[in-house]
Amino acid sequence: MDPNIKQELIDIVDKENYTDNLIDLVSYSYDASHFTSRPFCGVWPRTVVHVSEILKLANRQKIPVIPRGAGTGLAGMAVPIKGGIVLDLNRMNQIKKISIEDRLAVVEPGVVYASLEKALAQFGFLFPPDPASGKVSTLGGNVATNAGGVKGAKYGTTRDYVLGLQVVLPDGRIMRTGSKTMKSVSGYDLTKIFVGSEGTLGVITEITLKINPKTTAATTALATFNSLEDAGNAVSQSMYSGIIPSVLEILGRETINAINQNTELALPEVDAILLAETDGYTKTETDFQMQKIIEVFKKNNADQVKLAQTQEEAAELWAARKSAYAVLARLKPSLIIEDVTVPMSKIADLLKGIKEISDKHHIMIASYGHAGDGNLHPQLMYDGYDPEQVKNQEAASAEIFELAIRLGGTLTGEHGIGLQKAPFMSLEHDNVAMDVMRSIKKMLDPNNILNPGKMALEG
Ligand SMILES: Cc1cc2nc3c(=O)[nH]c(=O)nc-3n(C[C@H](O)[C@H](O)[C@H](O)COP(=O)(O)OP(=O)(O)OC[C@H]3O[C@@H](n4cnc5c(N)ncnc54)[C@H](O)[C@@H]3O)c2cc1C
Repeated sequence: MDPNIKQELIDIVDKENYTDNLIDLVSYSYDASHFTSRPFCGVWPRTVVHVSEILKLANRQKIPVIPRGAGTGLAGMAVPIKGGIVLDLNRMNQIKKISIEDRLAVVEPGVVYASLEKALAQFGFLFPPDPASGKVSTLGGNVATNAGGVKGAKYGTTRDYVLGLQVVLPDGRIMRTGSKTMKSVSGYDLTKIFVGSEGTLGVITEITLKINPKTTAATTALATFNSLEDAGNAVSQSMYSGIIPSVLEILGRETINAINQNTELALPEVDAILLAETDGYTKTETDFQMQKIIEVFKKNNADQVKLAQTQEEAAELWAARKSAYAVLARLKPSLIIEDVTVPMSKIADLLKGIKEISDKHHIMIASYGHAGDGNLHPQLMYDGYDPEQVKNQEAASAEIFELAIRLGGTLTGEHGIGLQKAPFMSLEHDNVAMDVMRSIKKMLDPNNILNPGKMALEG
């Protein structure tokens, strides 16, 4: 790092909020993907004015700036691929306001999802998106990636809850978007442009979130299927029940086997298991909803259907689902987890296609995920030290993306584009759409300093 620029950064944030220690630079060179690249330095801004001054300096000197939350992204979004300054927002971590009357919370970007969850729980409220990384990921990261979770089908994703933002633009200007109201049709929706923008358009320094009252009752059921097709059809047909389950998850055979090898749950070893939850305010209501869903499962050849009898039994089933990523990770030295999403009527085709891709490329692919909103997590297990297997994994991933797009779906329902899926953007977005995205980027960030190299914005 140029010593003059280093000094200017220290003048802005103070010495204790600046680092170029090797250990920090190595930490900042990773996220939860397989990409790595070291930044020049890291800074911990504490105020919006710090962020603004840092961006003014970086813009003047044309140095990349990479906003960073907890670094749990799975697509290389926070990896400083062109070096530069990592802007670590973890020290801007205040919950500024919770207003039950206004149904909202105002937070700084470094607040961890679980901290807000805890603060809202005392009022019987929650911020619903619930990413599986919520114990560590930050709300700034959740907004910048439009994070979602198992309840996406019923409750939506982060985008549905962001009412307004404070954003610092690449030239250092500070802007407010949106409002604190439950609805507004005033002007272009600038808020939504920043949700899911992966730190490429502006730095989010304050977030106003809509919050929901918590439900108090739930019913959980497990259904087994002897064919992937039946399970896929049960998912799409479930809409005819007139009920939207709060959770509808699928586990394929490889995932079930891995769970059984690593836990004592002894799940039925079948082609697919569907786990469903209905939620509401009384048990009578949630049982009624579940019966409607079970009728559909049975019409689609469910073999066994089992209702969890106690909260502990339900918790065990959800623990099994949550363990999928980790138990599969044990099988091979390397893994890639994809998050393609298709219209719900295409879930069966997606599952079948993934199985064919797995056989064709001799690569182990376990499927599981949020069937209720068409979002699957094919997890590819391989040996990253074996060039042949790496080639097979890359070919299989590319074919999974092509399949999802062919089925009318999207490259990513949760994890974002970052570096990993940038080469595939034009599969999903036509030339005009790519041109518009690149024009927006150029207009806001003409020097391309904010998180450069991501989302195919430089093509
Ligand atoms: C085990 C595991 C489970 C996961 N489960 C889920 C899941 O269920 N659902 C899901 O959606 N994702 C999931 N993820 C992915 C990841 O946790 C999410 O993408 C999360 O929202 C990232 O938050 P973060 O704070 O770690 O952000 P980071 O990884 O640090 O950053 C992600 C992106 O956001 C940008 N960014 C961060 N903060 C700001 C800011 N203040 N202003 C502007 N840009 C910013 C960064 O530049 C980067 O592009 C999971 C990851 C892991 C490792």
